[in-house]
Amino acid sequence: MKRVYNFSAGPSMMPEPVLQRAAAEMLDYQGSGQSVMEMSHRSKIYEGIIHSAESLLREVMNIPENYKVLFLQGGASSQFAMVPMNLMTKNNKADFVLTGQWATKAYKEAARYGTANVVASSKDKTFSYIPDLNPETFSKDADYFHICMNNTIYGTKYHTLPETGNVPLVADISSCVLSEPIDVSKFALLYAGAQKNMAPAGLTVVIIREDMIGHAMEITPTMFNYKTHADNDSMFNTPPCYSIYMCMLVLDWLKNTIGGLEEMKKINEKKAGILYNFLDNSKLFRGTVVPKDRSLMNIPFVTGNEELDAKFVKEAGERDFVNIKGHRSVGGMRASIYNAMPVEGVEKLVDFMAEFEKKNG
Ligand SMILES: *Cc1c(COP(=O)(O)O)cnc(C)c1O
Repeated sequence: MKRVYNFSAGPSMMPEPVLQRAAAEMLDYQGSGQSVMEMSHRSKIYEGIIHSAESLLREVMNIPENYKVLFLQGGASSQFAMVPMNLMTKNNKADFVLTGQWATKAYKEAARYGTANVVASSKDKTFSYIPDLNPETFSKDADYFHICMNNTIYGTKYHTLPETGNVPLVADISSCVLSEPIDVSKFALLYAGAQKNMAPAGLTVVIIREDMIGHAMEITPTMFNYKTHADNDSMFNTPPCYSIYMCMLVLDWLKNTIGGLEEMKKINEKKAGILYNFLDNSKLFRGTVVPKDRSLMNIPFVTGNEELDAKFVKEAGERDFVNIKGHRSVGGMRASIYNAMPVEGVEKLVDFMAEFEKKNG
């Protein structure tokens, strides 16, 4: 059997023990005589799965009682509309920080439903940093303040949160969810597409403070109203059953094999440290992000020579380091090292980079 090191930004690697367990349970889930793919979402046995996914997520992320966890579909991209339709309803206004393509999409979509203000942007330098924020420039009467916590394409992350006072803070955490502890109580709403760090594609997780529910615009489609899903325990319609099951297995692995998010953070810091340390000392490769804003999950780097970048990507692929090509808007390379990437994968990548540097530097 062959397994590559997959540095894709998403869908991305899954922890191997999780895949093994899913394989072992594929044909007969716990004596039910069925695969989880086949069973009714209304069955007792499936109810057990979705409840345990939720309670594991609550435990692992330390989610307070007054928050609902919703298992939805439509990707983080649907949240770009769902958030304003449900939250932009008191003063019809929200603030945005543009730190990349996803943050900008969230802003543009919200602008279709109300007044969307850009508080700051890092577009001037290809989103290679998180802009300094001055609370005096924030709208005091905004219905919410939106950030993209980890910018998957550019490899930046907020290391301190904006001080929004009474204005509810909303964050897209698609590419940093479960990578380290996060204080959920600082946010009114968090959302994440699962395919980066939680589960296969098809599942979108929303963590929403209860007082944010029930204020949707009149035009909001039933399926886009958080209340619909909160009132029905994410079972208003057929949920993404198999992805939720895989999410449960990932959370079980995080809790029982890794030992929780503090431990996961240590491993992620170790992995990112190996790669950043190499980049900081390399004469050929360099990171593209301002060091203080670096992401633990997505690490873009370049040689400064497009032909050499292409050669590196090609040769890396031949060595089974796959999907390491950078996003077209940044160029170069990007190593996405989510939770499931083993330390060994990063060590081997760095060995290969050193070898490449010797030959081509
Ligand atoms: C991948 C990603 C998205 C888009 O997610 P979809 O589930 O494909 O809609 C949005 N935001 C961030 C930060 C992402 O990494």
